[in-house]
Amino acid sequence: MNQSKYIFVTGGVASSLGKGIIAASIGRLLLARGYKITIQKFDPYINIDPGTLNPYEHGECYVTSDGCETDLDLGHYERFTDIRTGSANNVTTGKIYQTVIERERKGEYLGRTVQVVPHITDEIKRRMLQLGAVGDYDFIITEIGGTVGDIEGLPFLEAMRQLKWELGHNAVCVHLTYVPYIAAAGELKTKPSQHSVKELQGLGLQPDILVLRTDRELGRGVLDKVGHFCNVEKDCVVQSIDLPTIYEVPIKMAEQNLDAVILRKFGIACNTVPNLGDWQDFISRREQASKEIDIALVGKYDLQDAYKSILECLSQAATYNDSKVRTHFVQSEKLMRSNIADYLSSMDGVVICPGFGQRGTEGKIIAAEYCRTHDIPTLGICLGMQMMVIEFARNVLGLKNANSREMNPSTPYNVIDLMEEQKSITQIGGTMRLGAYSCDLLIGSKAYDAYGKTRIEERHRHRYEFSNPYRQQFEQAGMLCTGINPDSGLVEIVEIPTCRWYVGVQFHPEYTGTVLNPNPLFMAFVKNIISKQH
Ligand code: GLN
Repeated sequence: MNQSKYIFVTGGVASSLGKGIIAASIGRLLLARGYKITIQKFDPYINIDPGTLNPYEHGECYVTSDGCETDLDLGHYERFTDIRTGSANNVTTGKIYQTVIERERKGEYLGRTVQVVPHITDEIKRRMLQLGAVGDYDFIITEIGGTVGDIEGLPFLEAMRQLKWELGHNAVCVHLTYVPYIAAAGELKTKPSQHSVKELQGLGLQPDILVLRTDRELGRGVLDKVGHFCNVEKDCVVQSIDLPTIYEVPIKMAEQNLDAVILRKFGIACNTVPNLGDWQDFISRREQASKEIDIALVGKYDLQDAYKSILECLSQAATYNDSKVRTHFVQSEKLMRSNIADYLSSMDGVVICPGFGQRGTEGKIIAAEYCRTHDIPTLGICLGMQMMVIEFARNVLGLKNANSREMNPSTPYNVIDLMEEQKSITQIGGTMRLGAYSCDLLIGSKAYDAYGKTRIEERHRHRYEFSNPYRQQFEQAGMLCTGINPDSGLVEIVEIPTCRWYVGVQFHPEYTGTVLNPNPLFMAFVKNIISKQH
């Protein structure tokens, strides 16, 4: 195929229905039929990227290998499809306006009035077509963030309307809505779905395919009724029911022929069968997993979305180790030496989570001490790794009040310090050390055992680093620097070889784990836990 086909995914009725999962599932199914795909997300908020957003607002900030801070849905796209996304895959209203305003300041609009239509919508269209212009993809799946009816989503839907018209048979709209069950009436209600389609139609958009989100079986009657009232063919209305794992969604969509229907809408002969063997094996293995492990996530938030990729990586690694993981959120702010055992003594493993700012860091240090002295398998990620270093400095090296300059700018022992290149930076958005960097592993280390090679690449999102002047002191006392960036000499990994599994990484291994290719470090962590337990 030389002309990329566009699949737009919109959502109605409510947010959090799982548009990202549907977009990712469509991607998986088309890949399983041998097509080349990519997935992009357009977010209507004004922030340039979610990098400056609090996790309570927007969940985790996902980082691409090219160093872009993006929406967490890009994490789903990569985990479901193994594609690599980048800066072009996540566009916000902020980015669109920034481009248009910069152009206006340069005088490029030649004195014309700059308006939402056509200037903003044209820039949205340009960005929507950007990945397709490269010619590498058969299908470009485009998720529009937000809910139909939101004021800020209007320019995106207008751009999509124009593109659908211009692209003709090369564009298809999949609309996700919700069918609630009203317990008092004992009935499933289709009216919200009908209204959300009306809303779309009012904007000049007719959905080609409807995915109805539901917590129970809808039955053919309900699906047909919605199709009938919304001008959508019967077999183009499918349900997306609550499932034990999001990874079953592609299978359920395939059972209802969603991918075949999409191909038909494009006029493509459906002469392939999706090859979902590996995917199905993963699901079966997950169902059959017999062992159970308990892992604490010591962090600032007790919020699933804040640690999305970590949770997914733990669950993937558990599946491949034939076990089920129970994760327990432990808010680090509550932790004290006197209560730490209550939280961690029954855990099989502990993850000390990434984060920013001082709140909860002393709790993370107490958790690191407890794990180190009780030999609990521990993975420290980014800020978590930095807290392991501080704990070791204070309690083993005797460097009283050692800290990171982020938490205490006048610490007497700055074992974690601001990176040199960060010192002149004044703007916070998008200026951290971001994206994939190489790391050389020490042969014989836990990290080397995990990855099975000496040179790896993982993604980063931080400003502070291990202070190299202290390195010798740490290594002599038993905390080794086992991963080093070959270009800058930055310490990427610390571990204590005398512990069962105590590894801290400056990078974020959670961004690269996928369903079919789980991250090696999470695999090794869980494997060690299992070997200890059984
Ligand atoms: N706040 C720390 C830093 O900037 C750690 C960042 C993180 O955990 N992602 O270095």
